[in-house]
Amino acid sequence: MTIMHEAAAAAIPGFVEKAPLERYVAPDKPSLIGMSRTELAAALGELGVPPAQRKMRAQQLWHWLYVRGATGFEVMTSVSKELRADLERRFTLARPEVVTEQVSVDGTRKWLLRLPGESDERPHEVECVYIPETGRGTLCISSQVGCTLTCTFCHTGTQRLVRNLTAGEIVGQIMVARDRLGDWPGAQPPEGAIVPTDGGRFVTNIVMMGMGEPLYNFEAVRDALLVVADNEGIAISKRKITVSTSGVVPNIARTGEEIGVMLAVSLHAVRDDLRNELVPLNRKYPIAELLEACRTYPGLTNAKRITFEYVMLKGVNDSLADARALVRLLKGIPAKINLIPFNPWPGAVHACSEWETIERFSEVVFDAGYSAPVRTPRGRDILAACGQLKSATEKLSVRERMALRAMAMTE
Ligand code: SAH
Ligand code: SF4
Repeated sequence: MTIMHEAAAAAIPGFVEKAPLERYVAPDKPSLIGMSRTELAAALGELGVPPAQRKMRAQQLWHWLYVRGATGFEVMTSVSKELRADLERRFTLARPEVVTEQVSVDGTRKWLLRLPGESDERPHEVECVYIPETGRGTLCISSQVGCTLTCTFCHTGTQRLVRNLTAGEIVGQIMVARDRLGDWPGAQPPEGAIVPTDGGRFVTNIVMMGMGEPLYNFEAVRDALLVVADNEGIAISKRKITVSTSGVVPNIARTGEEIGVMLAVSLHAVRDDLRNELVPLNRKYPIAELLEACRTYPGLTNAKRITFEYVMLKGVNDSLADARALVRLLKGIPAKINLIPFNPWPGAVHACSEWETIERFSEVVFDAGYSAPVRTPRGRDILAACGQLKSATEKLSVRERMALRAMAMTE
């Protein structure tokens, strides 16, 4: 079945998919971060904890990991000394390593994170961005190093090195952000940090809009987000977690059924001929199939809408006829429309639409009854505005290395 599917994909003219080039090489001592409760219980079993105690012990660890933010076993006072020593011998609480941290004048923070690579010459790196706003803090995280797809306007799509992140590396990005922001009980934010000031948590929303196509790494993304949403741990509600996809149709229903988070779809064009060019995956899953999957997305209601992302490309997809076609196309789907000014990157063939064009486009969308927020670029001074993420993995210039997309889901 899978083989036929792949063979059929290979036969689609113009659709080229990069095979993941690199594997994940597990460290000798694995980190407990990202394990499910069942995996934690199994890990405890390996250490000789009797079956009757495993569930309770796993629950204790869960609390130390995800409520208290423990970075070492020594602080786990409710766990016996012997068990702590055993845990220490076999496991770590390691998060991805922070290579650089940049802070924008508007408070946006960007971290370059290093993950284990197959060789030391080619470390695997991803970026992660925090966007503080009044009353909430959004973290934009990555699902892959690079991306196997090749959307023409996206810098990540030009990166050759590709590998899937593990569930631990996906959860690890949130742990790093909370560590650096002092977002744990008893911790303090760094001097001068901009964080939501309503007395609540600092990371309140998660968007999977960093590097990679999350629905091409479905199992790891699912397992990670179930850890993140667990209400006895990190406890970020599924309504505050958004997965963005370029349209991997077979995994859209699964996202609703198996994860139950909010969906964003990178539409960007209203006709197949144009979308085939901009988002080559459209050759495999054309607009009609994509929208049918959206229409039947599990849990969809007027209060739980799908966000359609539409990048504004000068002279390509930004006419008023396109705007009218867009609202016709989405008729009957509980939708929000997010217009994204294109963020140029070195070597990009596209340009961003004129501001007046974006305004006129958004009026058509607004008049049709949709709120049409234009995503405000954030973190411009550290090049963390939505646009183009390509990590240092391929020896980029400093400027390119710093370029990265951060999507604030502003409404
Ligand atoms: N692979 C997923 C998620 C990551 S991309 C997806 O494609 O949806 C997150 C969003 O950034 C997508 O809507 C993507 O189309 C958009 N994007 C990519 N490059 C961009 C650029 N240079 N300027 C503006 N938006 C961009
Ligand atoms: Fe991959 Fe999304 Fe970029 Fe397309 S827009 S290349 S799917 S990260």
